[in-house]
Amino acid sequence: MGILELLQTQPALFTSTCLILGLMVGSFLNVVIHRLPKMLELGWREQCSELTQSEDSESNLAITSHTPIAAAPTPTYNLVVPRSACPSCHHAITAMENIPIVSYLFLRGKCKGCGTRISPRYPIVEAVSGALCALAATHFGYGMASIGAILLIWALLALTAIDFDTMLLPDDITLPLVWAGLLFNLFGTFTDLQSAVIGAVIGYLVLWGVYWLFKLTTGREGMGYGDFKLLSALGAWFGWQMLPLILVLSSLVGAIIGISLIVLFKHGRNIPIPFGPYLAGGGLIALFWGQTLTHQYLHLLAP
Ligand SMILES: [Zn+2]
Repeated sequence: MGILELLQTQPALFTSTCLILGLMVGSFLNVVIHRLPKMLELGWREQCSELTQSEDSESNLAITSHTPIAAAPTPTYNLVVPRSACPSCHHAITAMENIPIVSYLFLRGKCKGCGTRISPRYPIVEAVSGALCALAATHFGYGMASIGAILLIWALLALTAIDFDTMLLPDDITLPLVWAGLLFNLFGTFTDLQSAVIGAVIGYLVLWGVYWLFKLTTGREGMGYGDFKLLSALGAWFGWQMLPLILVLSSLVGAIIGISLIVLFKHGRNIPIPFGPYLAGGGLIALFWGQTLTHQYLHLLAP
């Protein structure tokens, strides 16, 4: 019996495989969450300096003695290079110290080199990724829907954490997520293709409209373009029919958390709160329980 056949016929084996895969990729998601915003910033800096350099050389054409100063070569920085190291003592993290959750518990949350506390967010991201992948495996079973659900879960997790940290939802994740949703629904994995295409368009336009309405009436920006793209992606994955539910769920969670932040932690009313995590949360609920919730809701309206 081949491995695929075994996974297909043994649900417990399929779920535990997805759990382990989720834990391991969760560890990689930590790298993405930490490095992707920095990579974007480095890229923007490079573009800015190129722009100012070209402006400088244009304005200095008349001055003959002008010699451009060679920029210091920037060290390679991407998702693979350099290797993960402790930010305090630069102790390189070995494979044994990189086992999801286990290493954190074994090291008691401290760097082996200098004893600096390691953020509990690393094992939390790994655990959430593992748990949600296992849930997707049991919920959807062996097949395309599980693969799609797991990819979506990883993207939403990374977006949530990056938005919390930086108030950014990088295009590098949101845009491929739109295409991926449309591709999965070419075969009707989560909804039919027509609903998916309309969902992608409406998802973007709804928040774009809210943004401009808010901006024109209050003069402030309530959310960012990343939020429009994220809701567009969720529309592509689940179809336009699911958008009201996602918006209601995310606003509800957002309002509860936002108000408690203001009341409990004296979080300034004017300090922006990222909306991406709530959209992602609404998307996850829609992934697992969207169909059930909409059916119950429609049943309430027309019993
Ligand atoms: Zn250290």
